[in-house]
Amino acid sequence: MSEENQAISANVPAVSVVVPVRDEVESLPHLLEAIASTLSNSQISYEIICVDDGSTDGSAEFLKAQAQSRSDLKAVILRRNYGQTAAMSAGFNYAVGKAVVTLDADLQNDPADIPMLLAKLDEGYDLVSGWRQKRQDGAVNRLLPSKIANWLIRRTTSVYIHDYGCSLKAYRSELVADMHLYGELHRFLPALAYIEGARITEMPVRHHARRFGRSKYGISRTFRVLMDLLTILFMKKFLTRPMHVFGLLGLISMALGVGIGIYLTFVKFALGEMIGNRPLLILAVLLLVTGVQLFCFGLLAELLMRTYHESQGRPIYRVREVVENKNNPT
Ligand code: UDP
Ligand code: MG
Repeated sequence: MSEENQAISANVPAVSVVVPVRDEVESLPHLLEAIASTLSNSQISYEIICVDDGSTDGSAEFLKAQAQSRSDLKAVILRRNYGQTAAMSAGFNYAVGKAVVTLDADLQNDPADIPMLLAKLDEGYDLVSGWRQKRQDGAVNRLLPSKIANWLIRRTTSVYIHDYGCSLKAYRSELVADMHLYGELHRFLPALAYIEGARITEMPVRHHARRFGRSKYGISRTFRVLMDLLTILFMKKFLTRPMHVFGLLGLISMALGVGIGIYLTFVKFALGEMIGNRPLLILAVLLLVTGVQLFCFGLLAELLMRTYHESQGRPIYRVREVVENKNNPT
């Protein structure tokens, strides 16, 4: 037992590189090669953890075969597609390195940037976030929504980094060990980490156009990201002071109701006009009330969900198998 522990602690790699993979079979050989050569050239000990997130193109089979024949790779195969955040979270779970670096499997992030991020961590940061220079994605469908999202996230979380959406990030491993992620939350890790008191910085990194396959996302993700943002935002307040959130919304809505009431009373009694025939006004009031209620319900449901997940300790993913080759030290 103690011998084993010693062996394990002697084998702790400097970095675990966590890669969520969905249908990236053509990129994978290039990716593994790029990570391995960069890190061994810089004499950084490492492990690569590829999490297959329900691929149907043979990525899982490729990863399993590789993991059997080389000792620097763990293949974690999820039971089905759970999404990038869940896949990353699975990767964090299997990571044993002193630092954790995440990047995309599609070679849009450049593994050659990893040593630079690690060096920055060594300067005493807990999280170093990549900032994609000359981002190679569509302008209208990707860059614009992400500009808006980044602006909103910056304003609301007070963590001033430019590019939340960049997957290439480096973390001190303690930081990710007990993060409870769900939805699209991986991009909010800097904000969540900031709440935990982490020291955060960013560094410019390279970005390339996709060489193989296609992006798994469309515009609908922007909506999901915004909803997650709202939840985080309200959670910060809600968890401590629910009345500050619901009370304020209630007051605003009440004030509007009273205002309209006063206006209508004025119209009826001072101007002597009929007010019974204003369907638009009724519609407006109905919409307002329903909107506020729906919003609050959504928020409550979201929080209940979260409490539910956390109280059950239920993971947001299920692992089918883990393949690694322990007998063949690097
Ligand atoms: N990905 C995943 N599960 C998903 C969707 C994507 O693990 O359900 C992975 C994907 O294989 C890639 C990364 O997440 O490694 C980013 O995905 P993609 O390149 O499609 O996103 P984009 O770069 O267009 O934002
Ligand atoms: Mg990509």
